[in-house]
Amino acid sequence: MERIAVFPGSFDPLTKGHESIVKRAIPLFDKIIISIGINAGKNAMFDIDQRKSWIKNTFIDDSTIEVATYTGLTIDFCKAQNAHFILRGLRSNADFTYENGIAQMNKSLITNIETVFLVTEPEFSHISSTIVRDIIRNNGNVEQFLPNAVTL
Ligand code: ADP
Repeated sequence: MERIAVFPGSFDPLTKGHESIVKRAIPLFDKIIISIGINAGKNAMFDIDQRKSWIKNTFIDDSTIEVATYTGLTIDFCKAQNAHFILRGLRSNADFTYENGIAQMNKSLITNIETVFLVTEPEFSHISSTIVRDIIRNNGNVEQFLPNAVTL
């Protein structure tokens, strides 16, 4: 069985925190599908094609990384991709509380998909797309928080 993981998120935009989680997960899986969830109720700062191309360019040299978009439940997308793992990153207690709820709900809905958490590396634990967007809105410089391929 191929070990396929879905890494779901908004990636609005992709940050060095996301990049680090994916890089560290590469040895764990045969394939990782970085999956941009399209949420009609959430107003994104960057459009889907832009977010997708940043992700593609960031992982251009990693042959086991794919990029996709999806709507609906993450577990339904996993089933469609034959993925048995959901990859998520943990920065803090707040992340744990949120992620724990989602992971347990998903486990109740489907038993053969496991959520795998990687704890963030300390140097990236303060980075969040939400704060990056706030800084951008206020004309600050966010370069240090973004992978090289993510150019604004
Ligand atoms: P969502 O909208 O689902 O929260 P995000 O794009 O914000 O999506 O995050 C996707 C995943 O990446 C989540 O598991 C989140 O906890 C993780 N993540 C975000 N920033 C970091 C970071 N700096 N270090 C580690 N994991 C992170």
